Amino acid sequence: MTNEHSIRQVLIVGGGTAGWMAAAALSRYLDNGYTKTTIVESEEIGTIGVGEATIPPLINFNGMLGINENEFIAATKGTFKLGIEFVNWGGIGQRYFHPFGGYGQALQGVHFHELYLRERKRRVLQDISAWSMCSVAAAAGKFARPGPGAQPPLSQIRYAFQFDAGLYAAYLRGYAERNGVERIEGKIVDVKLDGESGNVAEVVLTDGRAIQADLFIDCSGFRGLLTEQALETGYEDWSQWLPCDRAVAVPCAHATAPEPYTRATAYASGWQWRIPLQHRMGNGFVYSSAHISDDDARETLLSNLEGGPLADPRHLSFTTGRRKLAWNRNVIAMGLSSGFVEPLESTSIHLVQSGISKLLALFPDRRFNPAERDEYNRQMQALFEDVRDFIILHYHATKRDDSEFWNYCRTMTVPDSLTRKMELWRAKGRVFRDDAELFATASWVAVMLGQGVVPEDYEPIVDALDENKVASALEEMREANLRTAERLPFHAEFIAQILGQRPAEPELPEFVL
Ligand SMILES: Cc1cc2nc3c(=O)[nH]c(=O)nc-3n(C[C@H](O)[C@H](O)[C@H](O)COP(=O)(O)OP(=O)(O)OC[C@H]3O[C@@H](n4cnc5c(N)ncnc54)[C@H](O)[C@@H]3O)c2cc1C
Repeated sequence: MTNEHSIRQVLIVGGGTAGWMAAAALSRYLDNGYTKTTIVESEEIGTIGVGEATIPPLINFNGMLGINENEFIAATKGTFKLGIEFVNWGGIGQRYFHPFGGYGQALQGVHFHELYLRERKRRVLQDISAWSMCSVAAAAGKFARPGPGAQPPLSQIRYAFQFDAGLYAAYLRGYAERNGVERIEGKIVDVKLDGESGNVAEVVLTDGRAIQADLFIDCSGFRGLLTEQALETGYEDWSQWLPCDRAVAVPCAHATAPEPYTRATAYASGWQWRIPLQHRMGNGFVYSSAHISDDDARETLLSNLEGGPLADPRHLSFTTGRRKLAWNRNVIAMGLSSGFVEPLESTSIHLVQSGISKLLALFPDRRFNPAERDEYNRQMQALFEDVRDFIILHYHATKRDDSEFWNYCRTMTVPDSLTRKMELWRAKGRVFRDDAELFATASWVAVMLGQGVVPEDYEPIVDALDENKVASALEEMREANLRTAERLPFHAEFIAQILGQRPAEPELPEFVL
């Protein structure tokens, strides 16, 4: 039901991943015959062109839009992602896997990782990744989507996608335009505020056209055309904890079949991503400009490619942090205009998704109730800070002392919220998280153990469980992962099957193609 206060016109400023995600979602959920959504973008300015690795909640976003996942994989030249392999983070030569799914099974209500921590004190034990179905499948280059009838450990597979950012935006554009979103090509040269309310009233294009709206979604990228340049919202700078402020990116040819995971390899002054897609590998070196020059960064990137570069390397600059208000007056900043917490855990697209869901849940009318805006800002701030703390952990929990960069990260003071988490973990391997926190217990366990933060003790309640029974249960779980991984198709085969390039293999009832 609409009324005289309902939002009549939404204007999305910017047609990158954020803009088209917002347009697609609004086209589906504001289809009330009254609210009109328009998007303005400038081909001359273009998009950032990176942002190709995601985390599992994107499956829900696709679901919200009713997108067929196989069609989406075909259209975006996408691959599946079971987690991230981290190389050289805890120390040079060390590697670990951050899986999207959990580890093993809880016994009598005791978290698996607590059982594992006690067992580790009793005998030499394999790395915890042996108990993660995602890690075992990833290491074997295997992938399948667990179907609704899947049992553990297959049901523990959680996945996300790796895709071509340009194709993703184009795919969503098609979706949004089919649902009635109007696209205007043009460059905004002026933003006019309403003299009385201070709200944004209209944007003006190079050719003099003015576009008015009740609600503006600023997806203009780092420049924050509305939220910062017009409303001067302000930015909270987090670079004292996350000193990387530049990146250089280049796609290259594939040397191998695409792996079902992203890799993040740490170097002396930054780290390099490797994102395998169907048709190419996405690569980028993220670095601290205070510790390495742009030329040396480009050289590091190019000398660590696995195939010939397919384009000229592109340099990008950023300041890690967040816009002080995600929603200011009648403008909601989404995507890079709302802040950026560097791409180590592939969280930015999720922050867009989450911003969209929260906006739909708190959708305003033209009276702009401050309570709705404040709640949106509170939730987005909490989410940004969760992501921030989790990423800082990767830099801080290290034994690396081979460069000024790592010495700084290892010895820096971290936010109190992270210190608290690390102290609880160090004492007895406990992970406490608020309900709305993005990263699951298993994610904290993966990174803490993977980076060498080993608890001094384990949870005392584990001692209520019989040691031998636990040991044999652990052994069974580990073997079940290996047996299940053997039965899974190779990742490349799975993709070929869903693209219809190969006949489907005899179907296993618990898999879904
Ligand atoms: C190095 C790096 C790596 C990343 N990797 C990942 C990753 O792996 N996973 C992930 O989730 N995220 C990643 N991100 C973040 C991700 O790229 C972005 O969150 C995502 O692409 C959304 O960007 P955007 O749409 O906000 O901005 P942009 O892509 O910059 O789009 C801005 C839009 O605004 C338009 N615009 C700007 N000014 C005007 C104007 N004056 N008039 C008209 N139009 C205008 C532009 O034309 C463009 O359409 C990464 C970011 C960086 C910097």
